[in-house]
Amino acid sequence: METRIWGMRGGTPVSGSDCSRYGGNTACIEVRCGTDLLILDGGSGLIPLGQQLTEKLGDRPFIGQMFLTHMHWDHIIGIPYFLPVYRLQGKLVIHGIAGMEETLLSLFQGAGAGEYFPVPMGKVKTEVVFEELSEETRVGDAKISYYYLNHPGLTIGFRIEYGGKSLVYITDNEPYRSSNKELVKDDDDSSFLARIDREVIQFARNADLLIADATFADEEYADLIGAGHSSVGDALRIGLSAAAKNLVLFHHHPLRTDDEIDAMVEKCRQRVEKLKGKLKILTPGEGETIEL
Ligand SMILES: [Zn+2]
Repeated sequence: METRIWGMRGGTPVSGSDCSRYGGNTACIEVRCGTDLLILDGGSGLIPLGQQLTEKLGDRPFIGQMFLTHMHWDHIIGIPYFLPVYRLQGKLVIHGIAGMEETLLSLFQGAGAGEYFPVPMGKVKTEVVFEELSEETRVGDAKISYYYLNHPGLTIGFRIEYGGKSLVYITDNEPYRSSNKELVKDDDDSSFLARIDREVIQFARNADLLIADATFADEEYADLIGAGHSSVGDALRIGLSAAAKNLVLFHHHPLRTDDEIDAMVEKCRQRVEKLKGKLKILTPGEGETIEL
């Protein structure tokens, strides 16, 4: 399994020399399972991915499967600008949960869409279909499952199993243990909300690669409780509790600089070392590949 991060920013795309390494594009990850192409989220990172695919494919058809975690702008804004669907024959399957299709359709062709975007959906060359996720989806030999996360609006995370390796993608998630301290005490393992937190950890269990929401620095989080995002500490705790092998901090705050992200990573590594944990914190830049 080969994973390439095309966008790891949350909220809005940004640019500038102080974020050139981790990049300014929003959520989009390319996953290659053998010859099958899976795309996690369609944020602005989808735009450079689409350009590269169009160049590489030449006259050949585009075939790909996209999996959407939810419909917030930073996860879908690249879709109307995804070049292969305008240039190439083929098929793009967009997978999501119930309700996403209507929002997607309205994005392309709903009342007033022309006010926002100039190209009607009918102009695409690629066949674009929406498929509602069943409990487990198969693409070639890859097995894809999903689980619900705590974020405003319906949001899910994905787990991909292929060739004996696993990737878990849980962005846009705020653990209840952090957001509802009154309801979920530190030593509480029995309440409903504590159980949901535990099930998210179970979903990420033994992941070879965990890509997790780390929007806020730990010291920022107290002012941002309820925003639906994790702190770096949350991401680390999920990674350690789930006994994941590798962790990528994801969905970086738009104002976070490369140096600040490096400092967060260093802090995480020190905490893992102190706990004698085995979790590795990986630091792929935008456009870089992780081989599993
Ligand atoms: Zn987001």
